[in-house]
Amino acid sequence: MKSEHCRIVVTGGAGFLGSHLCDSLLEQGHSVIAIDNLVTGRMENVEHLFGHDRFQFVRQDVTNYLWVPGEVDIVLHFASPASPIDYLELPIQTLKVGSLGTHNALGLAKDKGSRFLLASTSEVYGDPEVHPQVETYWGNVNPVGLRGCYDEAKRFSEAMTMAYYRTHGVDVRIVRIFNTYGPRMRPRDGRVVSSFLTQALRGTPLTVFGDGSQTRSFCYVDDLIDGIISVLWSDYVGPVNVGNPGEFTMLELADVVRRVTGSSAELLHEPLPTDDPTRRRPDIELIAKLTGWQPRVDLAEGLERTAAWLETQLA
Ligand code: UDP
Repeated sequence: MKSEHCRIVVTGGAGFLGSHLCDSLLEQGHSVIAIDNLVTGRMENVEHLFGHDRFQFVRQDVTNYLWVPGEVDIVLHFASPASPIDYLELPIQTLKVGSLGTHNALGLAKDKGSRFLLASTSEVYGDPEVHPQVETYWGNVNPVGLRGCYDEAKRFSEAMTMAYYRTHGVDVRIVRIFNTYGPRMRPRDGRVVSSFLTQALRGTPLTVFGDGSQTRSFCYVDDLIDGIISVLWSDYVGPVNVGNPGEFTMLELADVVRRVTGSSAELLHEPLPTDDPTRRRPDIELIAKLTGWQPRVDLAEGLERTAAWLETQLA
């Protein structure tokens, strides 16, 4: 397919990742139609793009019938609540956007002959028994637990994407996105990086869930977007992990957050949420082999940039 001047639909285009994708694609010369119902996305994330002659915003819920006039070269499906507190509050919408929303977005891609990229997640691995997580691992998910609404929605969306690939020949890509942070995360979105940074900047205690020995691997948003775009232009259907393999316990993360913000805030231990994965780290050999992509921004540098942005939000 052509890789220049594409007309690209981004569902969830006003969200944290969706809006950064819109920026990047516009910079690369493409036209972007961002679709978002603004349940967890924010107009502020795309405000700076209004007036751009290659950008269009449509406020719509993709779980309803989805139609875009004219040619569409690529559909990037990023619509979904993604923070545990959001999907715990919106379990039915989360399941609907992963199922009906994915079906509609695939239907649009099929009708337009577009390439389709699904934003899947490391949550498909659940509380993993294989570490680091390789794409061939099938995961360990509790379907009836509180996180099941997100994990199973994304597992369903991967299955639906493969069914459209096999049955209708839609040109699909699947990326499994690991924990990502950076500017435009909502200060109160409940995820650990936004929570710790906001707490450190305000001088309130950092809320560590459980004993803080659980691990995550954090990727700076600019790196992640480059990784996703590299998979989009590759010939590989997927799934492909995208993330930064640097792995930290939550206690280690709290230390780095305090160091980069110069905060001496105390730690406040709170109960560990149910089914909280014990450890998580992407194996990124596959993407490195396919596209040569590697993350560049280390945790301290990424946290500094994110803290600088959060300060402007909290001011
Ligand atoms: N966490 C924490 N304090 C917070 C928020 C989260 O200790 O204020 C922990 C959470 O229990 C999990 C990790 O940080 O082990 C990452 O949580 P997050 O919600 O960012 O994403 P997840 O990887 O669980 O989807």
